[in-house]
Amino acid sequence: MASIYLCGPTVVVPPHIGQIRSQVNFDILHRWLRHSGYRVLFCRNVTDIEDKIIGRSLSEGIQWWRITDPVYRSFDRAYTTLGCLPPSVEPRATGHIPEMIELVEQLLAAGHAYESEGNVYFEVDSFPDYGSLSRQRPEKIRITEENEHGKRDPRDFALWKRAKPGEPIWHAPWGDGRPGWHLECSAMARKYLGREFDIHGGGANLIFPHHENELAQSRAAGDSFARFWVHNGPVTHRGEKIRKHALNPLAVHTLLDRVRPMELRYYLAAAHYRSPMEFSVAAVEEAATAYRRMERFVLRVGAAAGSDLPAQFSDAMDGDLNVPRALSVAHATVAEGHAALNSGDQESAAVKCRSVRAMLNVLGLDPLADDRPRETRLHDVARAVLRVARNLAATEGDHERSMIMERQIDRALQNRRESALIP
Ligand SMILES: [Zn+2]
Repeated sequence: MASIYLCGPTVVVPPHIGQIRSQVNFDILHRWLRHSGYRVLFCRNVTDIEDKIIGRSLSEGIQWWRITDPVYRSFDRAYTTLGCLPPSVEPRATGHIPEMIELVEQLLAAGHAYESEGNVYFEVDSFPDYGSLSRQRPEKIRITEENEHGKRDPRDFALWKRAKPGEPIWHAPWGDGRPGWHLECSAMARKYLGREFDIHGGGANLIFPHHENELAQSRAAGDSFARFWVHNGPVTHRGEKIRKHALNPLAVHTLLDRVRPMELRYYLAAAHYRSPMEFSVAAVEEAATAYRRMERFVLRVGAAAGSDLPAQFSDAMDGDLNVPRALSVAHATVAEGHAALNSGDQESAAVKCRSVRAMLNVLGLDPLADDRPRETRLHDVARAVLRVARNLAATEGDHERSMIMERQIDRALQNRRESALIP
């Protein structure tokens, strides 16, 4: 059995490419562990109460849950569309306030936290290991929270925030308010995975302060917490972090106008999970072309998926999940398969096809997999129809009809996407 806790999204706007990268990377880890014979207990949380959510709710004058629920569904849809396996459990922060209160009480009792004017803070100085995960010396810790009243030390962070006018509140022994962001993961990891678990994952941007704070809270409360930490690199655009805003050109549903779900998944999977990725349309299209090359071969031969993986592929996956190297093994096998086809050797081509499908299955990229999500199949069919219609009209030399058809199909796709993805 292997247990994984992955920090999930803050559901404030629909997912962008950087957020979905983390899910694809960890989905591949999930699949690889399963393939390696582990039963996997996979917990991915949903942050449904946080400053940005409250900010949007106050500025739009609607309840917080009228933002989080539809946005949660857009994330869920994006995960499914990109072929991510569902987690074993997907707890929401607001459903675990009693667990968080219990943890705060333990930290208060153990002298690692203090109450001040209705707020509760974690006392960084009380935990000598603070800074070890993000490799910062205690005296040089970066300050990330505004210095609210009553904090003893600017490095201390909020476990519980006192109620402010207009904000959602929950009752707690030290006063009404809401939990600090970091607290939820410590409480939910303990509830679902126990006091010690195998892998804690998330984006590298979460190492500090989020994961440093989770680690401090959990260890200070007596939990061993994660045995290993795995962090994926960021996706940047023009050298900058991708921001969360409602009309994001790098939103997953917008990018799916350009490429099919499996092509987008291939793009995200093809870089090593730890490497930063600089987003460009050209790179996405290049990835789509590479994926189609493999897809064409598999569709042409159509042999059943094998279960044996080439040793080089397995070595690459065991070597810190080296997907780029694993994919190069798959591409080389496709090239051998094409060569076999060209020389009329159908039997060898079928052997290669079985091997390619076994490899692509592990990566969640098999074009013929039985477990491909319905959403993905529909999307693929729609794009294929669009291509056929365009080619047909073009061969007939009827430019105008081609344009009308293309517009109609695009509109149909657009409508379906909007109803499906945009809250
Ligand atoms: Zn977390």
